[in-house]
Amino acid sequence: MLFLGCHLSASEGFAAMVKTAEGIGANTFAFFTRNPRGSRAKEEDPADAARAVEMLQSGGFGPLVAHGAYTMNLCGADPDARAFAASILADDLRRMAALPGNFYNFHPGSHVKQGVETGVEYISQALRAALAPGYPVRVCLETMAGKGTEVGGNFRELRMILDAVGSSEVGVCLDTCHVYDGGYDIVNDLDGVLAEFDREIGLDRLWAMHLNDSKNPFSSHKDRHACIGEGSLGTDAFRRIVNHPALKGKPMILETPNELPGYAREIALLRGLEKKA
Ligand code: FE
Ligand code: FE
Ligand code: ZN
Repeated sequence: MLFLGCHLSASEGFAAMVKTAEGIGANTFAFFTRNPRGSRAKEEDPADAARAVEMLQSGGFGPLVAHGAYTMNLCGADPDARAFAASILADDLRRMAALPGNFYNFHPGSHVKQGVETGVEYISQALRAALAPGYPVRVCLETMAGKGTEVGGNFRELRMILDAVGSSEVGVCLDTCHVYDGGYDIVNDLDGVLAEFDREIGLDRLWAMHLNDSKNPFSSHKDRHACIGEGSLGTDAFRRIVNHPALKGKPMILETPNELPGYAREIALLRGLEKKA
């Protein structure tokens, strides 16, 4: 089963997102748990969440992949800002309990020249604290393009975080634009990259995908998303991705520069690339 969707606006609530998703042929989706460039979150609406859970089930949806705010940096240099980011993470996981069994993905953070080891330590501290209450949500670390001092620009750094957290509730969301930008050649050697992922992290920890083409060439560490088939990855790379046995059944989220009609077209395009048995 191909679970495909895109980022949707959470402004009208969870049930409205499920309805929008169904209207564009999606059977998963992503949403920001709070203002992506700030920290404000919507007021919680348990009745809306309960309705959404029912709709997701009856609609045959795969797991959703919520996204933490871009501004949440768990490994910044300022202790107060770091504590604030950790409190946002904890609050996000608590809120996700209204949609049990889904994923929460976030950017590990930027160590701002404190070094990868220090960054990993801060990120894992925050994760251990946020995971302690045992909410029914699994957390994905996103593979990053390796821009500036981003942590998570290679598989080894993600492995370091997973080891330091020591919880089976944490896995990885693989972003196709980011890994290609980060120097993993999924265009010419998808099998090799997945084998490396398996050696470094373990494919059992690969839980979700972000499907984006890239505006920049291989290994450019830039992180600029392009529409599917319009960037340096190209349509054939996505044909191999949606048909790869190791990626079957993972929720695949588009973060391409589109409005809803464009997302509907890309979802249809990707469904068309799937080889029917
Ligand atoms: Fe992201
Ligand atoms: Fe992404
Ligand atoms: Zn990106």
